Amino acid sequence: MKSIKVIAFDADDTLWDNQPHFNEIITGFVKLLKPYCSEKTAWDAIYRTQVENLPLYGFGARSLTLSMTQEACKLSNYQIDAASIEKILQLGRKLLTMPVELLDSAQEVVKKLKEKYRLILITKGDLVEQERKLRDSGLIKYFHHIEILSDKKVEDYQNLFERLNLKPEEFVMVGNSLKSDIIPILELNAKAIYIPYHSTWEHENVKDYDKNHKNLTQIEKLSDLIKILM
Ligand SMILES: [Mg+2]
Repeated sequence: MKSIKVIAFDADDTLWDNQPHFNEIITGFVKLLKPYCSEKTAWDAIYRTQVENLPLYGFGARSLTLSMTQEACKLSNYQIDAASIEKILQLGRKLLTMPVELLDSAQEVVKKLKEKYRLILITKGDLVEQERKLRDSGLIKYFHHIEILSDKKVEDYQNLFERLNLKPEEFVMVGNSLKSDIIPILELNAKAIYIPYHSTWEHENVKDYDKNHKNLTQIEKLSDLIKILM
């Protein structure tokens, strides 16, 4: 890690809790649909529709709300009443206003690392939603640059590297998603630190990856960063 000058952080489920909130909201949706279909059918349908809608709606709570509404119509064979649709909208709003809970001494960790490194935050999702969480997290002041992307593919990172004049050998990305935070970074010959989270969206799961990649480090918790980077 000696050559590292810039540390980039993912936000959702790396610095603060996120996926468990989404699961809680989907659980509410599944309960609402109970008169029409099994829990498994509703869970499978919402996952499939969310993924199908990604190119149009992107990631996040508003996208989930639209997907839940779409599936409520379909799964109920268009029998669902307006009051239930209103409940789905309320579930979506709840997700957009939930308190931001920082993970494992996130504030102390970024504060400490800022003494030695340039910190960047790279999150994907809906602009309004991610900006609200960032504001409520109280972490903005520790970051030199904040980037909210609609996706985190190799080309998205490549554009960012060019725009911010980042050199792969000086860069390390910290995140909980192999698909979004780790694998694209390794492809760009930069370093990545993987911190698995107990709850990860199925869409972000990757089973086949090189656990022994020379640029990959896996740690258990955020505060372990201090040991390897300070
Ligand atoms: Mg994440």
